[in-house]
Amino acid sequence: MPLSVEEIRSNYLRVQEEIQHTALKCGRKPEEIRIVVVSKSQPLKVVESAINAGIRSFGENYPEEAMEKIHAFRDVEGIEWHMIGHLQSRKAKLVSAYFDWMHSLDSLRIAEKLERLLAEQNRFLKVLLEFNVGGEVSKYGWLASDPDYWSELIPEIDQIQQFPHLQICGLMTMPPLTATLQEAQGYFRKLRQMRDFLQERLPKLKLTELSMGTSADFPAAIMEGATIVRIGQAILGPRDYSKD
Ligand SMILES: *Cc1c(COP(=O)(O)O)cnc(C)c1O
Repeated sequence: MPLSVEEIRSNYLRVQEEIQHTALKCGRKPEEIRIVVVSKSQPLKVVESAINAGIRSFGENYPEEAMEKIHAFRDVEGIEWHMIGHLQSRKAKLVSAYFDWMHSLDSLRIAEKLERLLAEQNRFLKVLLEFNVGGEVSKYGWLASDPDYWSELIPEIDQIQQFPHLQICGLMTMPPLTATLQEAQGYFRKLRQMRDFLQERLPKLKLTELSMGTSADFPAAIMEGATIVRIGQAILGPRDYSKD
């Protein structure tokens, strides 16, 4: 059963309270942390309820699936779409045309393609660079498990920062699904260290955002400096797992 507006509203409030509580506990300002509500694999009806509960920032993993939602709710004031899944090159056009944020920029090649499309459309896209801090072979993102090799990533990131239509705002990661809470926190810390490293080496960048933490581990992410948490099930309820 899809959740009702009331259920979604109360979940959203509960998550906001936990964010506030965690932020204050570790000396951070709650207002510097925003929630992207992950609506992937959720039907239109659930997104509509979420909108009626006051939610405006949504995260999607599959551009084609997102299109239906983006079109259906295009007149909603202040609505914002975040692409958070790996982007295949042939879907880049949808992201360049319809999304406001791209959390999962994971290669120079896809950056080049997005830049070309955005230039044609005279559009700008806020992007986050995705890092694979857990070192899993199957994961997307620049490999960042071993700090000894971080320097080697600089030339590529430096090239991306020259693209005028991509506004690099920060970093994103997704720890291995098998990680314990404590391990996840270690990966979040590593992403923050990676941010500090890149900020120092490429001072023209303004890496203010850290997109990390899901329903399972957002308090740990906040303790390590998350400014954007990506939360699906804890707010919208269970989804169709066959698509994950
Ligand atoms: C699905 C997903 C989330 C949200 O996960 P929940 O467990 O529903 O909170 C966050 N980030 C990414 C990249 C995802 O694919």
